[in-house]
Amino acid sequence: MPFADELARDQRSARKGRTRTAPQRCGEGEPGHKSRAGSCFFLATFCVPFPRRDFPPYPGSSPSPGMSESVGGGQIPRPGPPCSPPYVNRFAGIATLKAVSEWPASDRVRVRRQPDRGHYDREAIDAVFDAGLIAHVAFVEGRQPICIPTLYARVGDDVDIHGSRASRTLRALAGGVPACLTVTVVDGLVLARSVFEHSANYRSALVLGSFRVIEGEDERLAAYEAFVEKVVPGRWSEARRPNAKELKATEILAVRLDEASAKVRSGPPSDDDSVDAALDVWAGVLPLAWRFGDPVPSPGLRDGIPVPASVTRLLDKNGGSA
Ligand SMILES: Cc1cc2nc3c(=O)[nH]c(=O)nc-3n(C[C@H](O)[C@H](O)[C@H](O)COP(=O)(O)OP(=O)(O)OC[C@H]3O[C@@H](n4cnc5c(N)ncnc54)[C@H](O)[C@@H]3O)c2cc1C
Repeated sequence: MPFADELARDQRSARKGRTRTAPQRCGEGEPGHKSRAGSCFFLATFCVPFPRRDFPPYPGSSPSPGMSESVGGGQIPRPGPPCSPPYVNRFAGIATLKAVSEWPASDRVRVRRQPDRGHYDREAIDAVFDAGLIAHVAFVEGRQPICIPTLYARVGDDVDIHGSRASRTLRALAGGVPACLTVTVVDGLVLARSVFEHSANYRSALVLGSFRVIEGEDERLAAYEAFVEKVVPGRWSEARRPNAKELKATEILAVRLDEASAKVRSGPPSDDDSVDAALDVWAGVLPLAWRFGDPVPSPGLRDGIPVPASVTRLLDKNGGSA
């Protein structure tokens, strides 16, 4: 049963009379302890010390419903006001919100189950978004939750999606409905001695927010290019650019990574130290890696057109025949 290790922890917590697990923090002087400026868990591989962000209240605003003022002995900082106008630095390769934080931007994105697997620093969150290929974007239409798979690209502080202006999803999101976009990379299956402890190694990231419409011809063209380049680096200069009609038919939306989280599981099954370790049952990890296969030319491709450099690069990086 996947994620049984999370269930098992829940059950252990419940037996101890705890139904919710606050983020576990290393105490002063304990092994692995770092100051608040640092990181307690293996997050250290992702982030460098950075002061905790304590934001003043927004002018004229109040905390979000459900946002906790104090959790696990520490204050959860409110998300800060936007650091810059939305489009500044979008394509400069410099993230304007490159904040490194072990604290969630809000209580809504605080990882409760296995909190040590939660990451809130932009390095970790960006790494997951950059590793994935497909996102699922969820929103509510009327009273019906909808969750739609889509290509996406992280562009600086934004995650961009694009599609037909006629798309129900794009139209709804362009209208500013609250949305949730999630990306998952599965790194392996975790086989334990007991079926209950079976799990998966994964990296996933999620952003909450409302999408905004990318407007203005130059901005839209730049967003189009950034999107294509993120999905297939180098393809923009190989393929025909969108003409005015195609650009007009395409909706490009972006959501800022203001309220996001990442969750990562890695490593072996968790029953090495349990009584089950005495069983004659194989336990370990079955790594899972995706790769591109051999390119399949379009049936109508004219003779003499070679596989382009963008494809060759992708294959060099992540390809090969079985
Ligand atoms: C890997 C992948 C990448 C994609 N990338 C993009 C992209 O970058 N841009 C883009 O616009 N679209 C993309 N799509 C298609 C996308 O999932 C939607 O089908 C499309 O955006 C139309 O959305 P809609 O809300 O207008 O669909 P509608 O046709 O209005 O949806 C009506 C109903 O059709 C069904 N439906 C729609 N889409 C799907 C689906 N994908 N799977 C199962 N049922 C579905 C659902 O029941 C839905 O409620 C991608 C799909 C996949 C699987």
